[in-house]
Amino acid sequence: MVYLDYNATAPLRPEALEATLAALHSVGNASSMHHLGRGAADRVDAARRQLADLLSCAPGEIIFTSGATEANNLALRTAYARGGLLVTTAVEHPAVLEAARAVTAEQPASLVVLPVDGDGIVDLEPLDAALHGGKVALVSLMIGNNETGVLTDLVPICKAVHDAGALVHTDATQYVGRLPLDLREIDVDLLSLSAHKFGGPQGVGALFIRRGTSLPHRPLLVGGGHERGWRAGTLNVAGITGLGAAAEAARLQLAHEAAQTAALRDTLEAALTAQIEDCRINGALVPRLPGVTSITFPGLPADAVLAAMPHVAASDGSACSSGAPSPSHVLLAMGHSRDDADSTVRFSLGYATTQRDVERAVAATTEAVRHVRSVMAATAEP
Ligand code: PMP
Repeated sequence: MVYLDYNATAPLRPEALEATLAALHSVGNASSMHHLGRGAADRVDAARRQLADLLSCAPGEIIFTSGATEANNLALRTAYARGGLLVTTAVEHPAVLEAARAVTAEQPASLVVLPVDGDGIVDLEPLDAALHGGKVALVSLMIGNNETGVLTDLVPICKAVHDAGALVHTDATQYVGRLPLDLREIDVDLLSLSAHKFGGPQGVGALFIRRGTSLPHRPLLVGGGHERGWRAGTLNVAGITGLGAAAEAARLQLAHEAAQTAALRDTLEAALTAQIEDCRINGALVPRLPGVTSITFPGLPADAVLAAMPHVAASDGSACSSGAPSPSHVLLAMGHSRDDADSTVRFSLGYATTQRDVERAVAATTEAVRHVRSVMAATAEP
């Protein structure tokens, strides 16, 4: 199997597997005062430092969660409670868009959704209008899109939003561990991430809350007061330990992995566009994450293409919405027709992808497209 679905989930890094297993073999609740409890708490502290080192923030600015979905929900719920508008974009992951709709359900007019252009770049004019037109509680913009990889330059946006007295949240789930991210330079107030996108275990993530950020206390889960009261519940020590190990491995190998992944992605795109007539790469002209390519094969249903290449694991749109009958909201927001959105395949590469994987994926895709075209031509005949 050629695995090109890193944006759905990345394979566990060996360092993360080893660290997670070691933690699973140890007994101890990180809240217990005895020696074994201290051991568990030490593992969590170490992981917090490892993640903080990856992000260039302080360990005390990290709240461990069950993943980016929870981190996004916590960020939006809490920051929206400041009062004012919640501004986000049409291409966010459902874990932001649905959370935004949920927290603004009683006042739908307080939700502003920014459109994007044909390349997936956010239109900042309505953001400017919102910032100058009244009170904004939070602006939530993803830094790297999960379907197309299109990047958002947050530095100027943070400045404008802060000048207006609002906060910035970013869903950095697809960016962390794939490209260097320095929170001393990117001045967001809140940032969400998920361990399994950069080689940690599934079901664990974090919300970064910048020190000094003034936020109403609105945890999603209340109970034992863990994570400084922001997230009650016994800590997932093994998962957090694995997250920490993956963060450290990513930090040490990031520069090399990003360059290698981008080169392989470029090879994949060059080969597919050379060999398959008419195919189109979405967001090709703008800066993107290194490992993602979203390719439209006009007239060919993506699910049929993928079914014809069972040894390549890729995705038709975002994995989180697979099974849902609706086409990708990201591609529709970029102006694609419903048919084109349904004819789009996402390949996502990562730290362990090889040249051989790419060669096999190119051969399989070319053959699958040829097969689907011939089946469609045959069924179209009278
Ligand atoms: N945000 C983005 C951009 C994502 O790609 C994902 C996962 N597909 C999530 C949030 C949700 O992450 P998780 O399912 O790990 O909570």
